[in-house]
Formats: sequence, C-alpha cells, structure tokens
Amino acid sequence: MLGAPADRTGNPTASPSEAVRAAAAILGDLAQIDVPIGPLTTYRVGGRAALFVQVGRLDDLAVLANAVQVSGLPVHVLGRGSNLLVADAGFEGIVVSTTALTDRFEIDAHSGIVRAGASVALPVLARQTAARALTGFEWAVGVPGSIGGGQASAAICPAATPSRPRRSSGSPGSSGRRPAGAAARSSPRRYGPR
Ligand SMILES: Cc1cc2nc3c(=O)[nH]c(=O)nc-3n(C[C@H](O)[C@H](O)[C@H](O)COP(=O)(O)OP(=O)(O)OC[C@H]3O[C@@H](n4cnc5c(N)ncnc54)[C@H](O)[C@@H]3O)c2cc1C
Repeated sequence: MLGAPADRTGNPTASPSEAVRAAAAILGDLAQIDVPIGPLTTYRVGGRAALFVQVGRLDDLAVLANAVQVSGLPVHVLGRGSNLLVADAGFEGIVVSTTALTDRFEIDAHSGIVRAGASVALPVLARQTAARALTGFEWAVGVPGSIGGGQASAAICPAATPSRPRRSSGSPGSSGRRPAGAAARSSPRRYGPR
C-alpha cells in the first residue's frame, strides 16, 4: 500500500509542502509535480504522488539521492504497479520509475543465459524465452509485473508444487529445450488460490 507520509530518517523534517518544494528545486526537470499514480498501476485506482521522477541516466540517481537526503521525503520505486494499491489520499513523497534505464534484455539461446533489466515486463520475457526454445519461465506469462518488482515482491511460480527446471536433452531448436537462466524461482511457497 502506498499512502501516508513517513519520516524514514527519524529526524525532524520540514512540513511536507516545504519538503516537496526543497526536493523539487533540486530535481528540477527530472521531477513532475502532483502526478496521478493510480493510473500507472494494474488496478488503476488511487491518488497522486507529490513528485514523480523518471530516471533516464545513472547520473539522475545521484541527483535523486541528494533530493531525498535534503528533503527527508519518502521514496517509492514503481515497477509496473501490479502489486501496488495507491491510497486515495495519495503519496506525499517521491515515486521513482527506472523504466527508461532498465528496460533491456539479452537472451543467449545457446547457453540459456538471460540477462534482463529490472523494468522488463515478465510476460514479455516469458514469451521471448519460450520463443527461443528456453523453458522454465513460462509461468510468468500471466504475471503483469516486472523483473525488479518480481524480485522485490519475491514473485513465485503459481504452481502448487514447482518442479525443478527441466534439463535440456539436446541443442535448442532440435529435440530439447534449455532451461532459462532468468528469475524463475524454485521456492516451495504457493501463490494465489490453492
Ligand atoms: C493478475 C495478477 C497476477 C499475479 N500473479 C502473480 C504470480 O503468479 N506470482 C507472483 O509472485 N505474483 C503475482 N502477482 C503479483 C505481482 O504481479 C508481482 O509481485 C509482480 O512481479 C510485481 O511487479 P511490479 O513490477 O508490478 O511491481 P510493483 O507492483 O510496481 O512493485 C512491487 C514492489 O517492488 C518494488 N519494485 C518495483 N520495481 C522495482 C525496482 N526496479 N527496483 C527495486 N524495487 C522495485 C516496489 O517498490 C514495490 O515494493 C500478480 C498480480 C496480478 C495483478
């Protein structure tokens, strides 16, 4: 749940509006003010963020860190918003998206190694790995989140008893399918209705 303001440092901070102004002054063009966040989530409900930052370069993170330190505002990293319910009252803090920085992936069908940025959509990677004859990540095709959000939320396969990744019995494209080395987990935990 993304909602009420919080002081993450425990130190006295300026009032929210002063803190927002201080952060906005440091962030400059990086920040948008009073942005609806609910529409950026799967459920499309909820209020606005005082500040919204789309990180496009690594240097932006240093500016962001400075703004957070000076203002004391809480920060929320937004993925695809599929595990997020935004309060109607909104969020008096900084919502950060890294989509522009981390939306690339590489698939080596020969080795089965997959490298994916945090913002890559799980269904996209599931389809792309399957299309290259890699197996083990198909379960993610119906999960409307991202790699980073999945990691942060400890996303797991919805299967009641996840099986071990299957071993390749041949080269991709011939008789076998290689297990994808992506973020598939073999956790015994369950997700969703049993
Ligand atoms: C219809 C539906 C089906 C689902 N099925 C499954 C399922 O089968 N298995 C399962 O485990 N979950 C499932 N989920 C839950 C959800 O999709 C996963 O938790 C998902 O992977 C969250 O990713 P997201 O990008 O949407 O993250 P968000 O909802 O945006 O964020 C979730 C958390 O991750 C953090 N986060 C997001 N991106 C980053 C990043 N780049 N760096 C650091 N932290 C980040 C956020 O701050 C937040 O704490 C389902 C949800 C829906 C709506």
